Amino acid sequence: MGGISLITFVENIHLKLSFKPNTLYFKRPFKIAHGVRTSTPIVIIELEHEGIIGYGEASMPPYLGESHETVLAFLKNVSFLLEKHKDPFQIESILMEIDLFAPNNSAAKASIDIALHDLIGKLKNKPCWQLFDADKNNASFTTYTLGMDEPEAIKQKIEDGKDFKILKVKLNGENDKAIINNIRSITNKPIAIDVNQGWKNKEDVLEMIYWLSEKNVLFIEQALAKHNLEDAHWLFERSPLPLYADESIQRYNDMDRMKDCFHGINIKLMKCTGMHEAFKMIKRARELNLKVLIGCMSETSCAISAAAQLSPFADYADLDGALLINNNLFDGITFIEGKITLNDMPGIGVVPKENN
Ligand code: MG
Repeated sequence: MGGISLITFVENIHLKLSFKPNTLYFKRPFKIAHGVRTSTPIVIIELEHEGIIGYGEASMPPYLGESHETVLAFLKNVSFLLEKHKDPFQIESILMEIDLFAPNNSAAKASIDIALHDLIGKLKNKPCWQLFDADKNNASFTTYTLGMDEPEAIKQKIEDGKDFKILKVKLNGENDKAIINNIRSITNKPIAIDVNQGWKNKEDVLEMIYWLSEKNVLFIEQALAKHNLEDAHWLFERSPLPLYADESIQRYNDMDRMKDCFHGINIKLMKCTGMHEAFKMIKRARELNLKVLIGCMSETSCAISAAAQLSPFADYADLDGALLINNNLFDGITFIEGKITLNDMPGIGVVPKENN
């Protein structure tokens, strides 16, 4: 990791962890192949060192198995590990200890990773994108997500996202062509498709991808069930459009065995335990000749701004999570005509909104 050096701190000054559960509410009900949701549980954490606070966030969409209960229990259990550390700059060994403490708990681990990066940035008075040696002008455009909906609702969502240059469309095998035809009757913007494992028969899927390849579609994300690598490989060899993995690839160690099944991966902080591992995954993706999409869950501008720090290294970004919720708890990175605009504030570049 570029730029992060070791500094020895005064004895007896420790890292102090505090955390609070909260719930994010969608502006409009959000339907994907897994079902419909109106809210997402999150936990906001603070990591304090010498009076300076780093902010972090865990977001827990239900299908990943984490909840308020599991995240709060994990944070409570690891707080002693964090509080014995005197030096937040030992980030690699701290994160390794946290990761080894218990398997899974990726969102809880990501909240600590994000808070540590925010804290280090603030202690060094540098934005994280600079600590990673990124050029902020290379930050990606974000896609704007349309859930699966009735034609009128989709029309409204396209209007909501009129400033964005790429749409992300959720499909699940029901009415897919009607949904795309409806969108195409309104706009010709490029579309990224996310199937969330919703397609079944590989021959039908290939035919559908050929149909989509003439509709200004950029790529297809997670067409098949996450463990169905045999069919993923079959499709990989034939698809006229790039295929991206989301649910199939969670962490760094999942990457190598997937390289002949996908052309790209969707890296999300909540899946891969945070910025440190996400950066490693981006580097490995380049070695494996995989494209990179940096994505998100429904999150406040805290976790979104953290992921955005790495967006200059990505081919695409899907970081609209905070735009789809009513109660964003932070001010953070912004979008100008859909392009991620990184600020020069230290750390992940966020400030808690008043009254939160
Ligand atoms: Mg996805």
